[in-house]
Amino acid sequence: MIEVTLLGTGSPIPDPERAGPSTLVRASDQMFLIDCGRGVLQRLAAVGSGANQLSALLLTHLHSDHIADLGDVIITRWVSTFAPDTPPLQIIGPPGTADVVEATLRAFGHDIGYRIAHHADLNGPPQVEVHEYTDGVVWDRGGVRIRVAPTDHRPVTPTIAFRIEHSGASVVAAGDTVPCRSLDALADGAGALIHTVIRKDLIDLLPQQRIRDICGYHSSVQEAAATATRAGVGILILTHYVPAMAPGTEDQWRALAASVFDRQIELGDDLHRVQVHPGVCTRSRS
Ligand SMILES: [Zn+2]
Ligand SMILES: [Zn+2]
Repeated sequence: MIEVTLLGTGSPIPDPERAGPSTLVRASDQMFLIDCGRGVLQRLAAVGSGANQLSALLLTHLHSDHIADLGDVIITRWVSTFAPDTPPLQIIGPPGTADVVEATLRAFGHDIGYRIAHHADLNGPPQVEVHEYTDGVVWDRGGVRIRVAPTDHRPVTPTIAFRIEHSGASVVAAGDTVPCRSLDALADGAGALIHTVIRKDLIDLLPQQRIRDICGYHSSVQEAAATATRAGVGILILTHYVPAMAPGTEDQWRALAASVFDRQIELGDDLHRVQVHPGVCTRSRS
C-alpha cells in the first residue's frame, strides 16, 4: 500500500487555510516529500513526522511556490537529526536543482556558522546530495522504485513528474503541466495520479493579464481528468487549487473532473489522505 497525504493544497497566492504545494508519499518504511511549498514542515508535524524522517525530497520544478520552504527543510533536518549515521538528505529534481540547493545553503550560511560554533556535536554543514534527472529510474531501494519523465510547463523547463511504485501499488505525481504524451506514458495504469489543477473558467474572467497568463501552462480540472482517463489510472487526486477551493464548492470541482473521469476522485483540504492499494482503493480523512 502507498499512502498519499496532501500536506499543502495551496498555490502561489497565500491562503489562511492552505499551505503551499507539497505532498507526502509513504511507501513501505520510506517517506518522500514531493515539493516543499510554504508551511510544509507545519503540515508534516501535523501528521506526526518531520524533516529528519524523510527518505528523499522530490522536486517537480523550481517555481517558487514549490520550493518556498526548501531552506526550512534542509536546516530543520540538520538541527533535528541526532543519530550520527543519518544519511545525507537526498534531493531529486530537474537540472537546476543543484544550483538552487547551493544558493539556499549560501543564503543560510550565517545561520549554519552560528550553529556549528554553538553546538559541540554539529561539526559541519547540512549533508545534502542532489541528483538531477529528466527521465528514467531515479530510486530503487528497499522495494520502492521511482521513475521520472519530462512534463510540459513551458516556459518553465525542465520539469518532471514522478512515478513511485511499491509491491504492485503505484502513484504518479504530475506537478504543474499541461497535458503531454510523456506524462500519459508515465501515468499509464497507475493506481493514482496526483495532479495540480486550475479553474480556467474562473481565472479567465479576472481582469489582470498577469494572472490570466497562468492558464497557458497549467491543466484545468477537466484536462487533468482527461489525462487520468487516457492513462487509465484508478484514482485521480487533485491538488494545488487555483483559485483556492472555497468552502462548499468541492462538489463543483469534483463534477468538473467527473465529467471526464468516471473512477474515484479525491480532493479536499490540507492533510487529506488517500490510500492506494494494488488493485483496491480505499480512502480516509485525517
Ligand atoms: Zn509551476
Ligand atoms: Zn505551482
